[in-house]
Parts: sequence; structure tokens; C-alpha cells
Amino acid sequence: MGLTPPDSGKPVFRFAPSPNGRLHLGHALSALSNGALARQFGGRLLLRIEDIDLTRCRPEFVDGIMEDLAWLGIAFESEVRRQSRHFADYAGALANLRARGLIYPCFCSRQEIRAAVAAGEAVTGTPWPRDPDGAPLYPGNCRVLAPEDAERRVAAGEAHVLRLDMARAIAAAGPALGYTVFEPDGSRHAVTVAPERWGDVVLARKDVPTSYHLSVVVDDALQGVTHVVRGRDLEAATDIHVVLQRLLDLPTPLYHFHRLLLDEEGRKLAKSRQSRTLAELRAGGLSAESLRRQLGFI
Ligand code: GLU
Repeated sequence: MGLTPPDSGKPVFRFAPSPNGRLHLGHALSALSNGALARQFGGRLLLRIEDIDLTRCRPEFVDGIMEDLAWLGIAFESEVRRQSRHFADYAGALANLRARGLIYPCFCSRQEIRAAVAAGEAVTGTPWPRDPDGAPLYPGNCRVLAPEDAERRVAAGEAHVLRLDMARAIAAAGPALGYTVFEPDGSRHAVTVAPERWGDVVLARKDVPTSYHLSVVVDDALQGVTHVVRGRDLEAATDIHVVLQRLLDLPTPLYHFHRLLLDEEGRKLAKSRQSRTLAELRAGGLSAESLRRQLGFI
């Protein structure tokens, strides 16, 4: 996999949007935070396009992202990593985990998972445990399949995802799992992780031979990223990333979690909720300067 990126000695930051829509204000905050912190810490600033989802990501959105970032006045290094061109790197990481019995194929449909969760709740009379995003933890049906049965079904072409066996993964990762948070004032503090709260996460999807969690970890290492600046909405998921880094023998970067922008109803801005895009705001006459000022970067 060539996991030794050139070491410039400088901190390396990255902004990593997914081109499944145009950028909105939340992305602008994230990109500007990365830009400001990279400048402050004398670091390099990379752009990565997280386009593993070939059905939802579109080339015109990539062009739109470039246009929006240029308008915002953020200068990235010219070499842009497109995840869709690196599926082989993610396959290599999956093969590594598979050889150590840390992932397993799961053939469950969403409906089957829902039914298993409902049945579990009916038996125990208590709500099924949920992950930090509110989704029920995978009940584990396919974790207990006989390996030869699972292999036969995979060989027969049955649709499946690959899940991390979280309990085994945590055991294999060993003790003292954690990471360090850095703040703009230069202070740092250590965080211990609790990845078990995510259960057996999906590392390769049915339609995509990887996942956000796996690709982000592999790429941060391949690109030599030392400082990850991301929204607080990804703080809990960082626990999964730290486990994967340890299992794959990759360095754990420093992390900083920036605030989130909320809409009038107090919900996180998101493409799915039709937040106004930067392109729309620009067309409506907003200047990059007033946007930067509005977000606190001037
Ligand atoms: N691609 C992710 C997103 O757009 C962010 C990547 C990260 O910071 O890990 O939400």
C-alpha cells in the first residue's frame, strides 16, 4: 500500500468533502477552519474528494466543490486525492483484517435487522442499544454463521456487507486506545475511546467495496495527515477510526472538532434537509468576504 508518505516535517491538514451535493455553510465552516488552523500551525493543506459512493457522487458536484473553495479563497495543494480511484488500497486493508478474522460477511437486509431488533426488544422488554447516531446496534446474526456457510454464500454471489467484529477488534487492538485533541490555542488533551458503543460497523457496503470509516483511515495515513479538523458530528465516529488505525498499524493523527452550524430549528445543516448551498448564497449576492466574517474568520 505504500504507507510511507513523504515527510515534509510540516503538519498536514485536509478538507475531505463528499461530492453528493453542493457545499453548504457547514462545509464552508469546516474548510475555513482547516485553512485557518493549517496557516496558524504552518501546515500543508490537502483536499480529498470522498467519492466512494458512485451512485450518489457526481462529477458536476466535484466541479462545484472546486468552484466554491476557490470562491472562498482557500488554497489547497494541487494534488487532489479522489477516493474512487483507490479502491485497491481499501481492498488491501480489508484483506488484512479478514486474514486475522476481524471482519465477517453479513447478508442481513435492513428489514431483517429491524425484525431482529424488534424481537430482541420484545424478549427483554427494554430498548435495544443504539449507537451514537441513534441506529440500533447490529444484533449479530451473521457473526455466528459457520465460516464455511458464509463463504459458500459469498462464493454464490449473495449480496453482503463486511462488518468489523468489534469485540474481537477491540481485543486485537489492545489496551490504552485513545487519541489527542488539539485546540487552536495550542492546548492538547487526551481522550480515551469507547468504540464498543458502535457495535459491528460496516466496513464494506453492498454496493461499494469500502466504507467511509475504512477509507478515511487508510487515506489519512497514505496522505500523511497529522491534524484532522472535522465537525463535532464526527467526534464519536473517531473512536472507530482509532481502532482501525491500531489494527492496521497506521498512525493516529491529532484531532480537532469544530462547532456545528444549526438551522432555525436547531438541527445540523445538511444537504438532505435542503440547506442553502454556497452557490445559492453566492448567486443571491453574498460575498466571500462577508461569509468569512459571518463565520468568524475575519
Ligand atoms: N467526508 C466526510 C463528510 O463530508 C468528512 C470526512 C472527515 O472529516 O472524516 O462528512
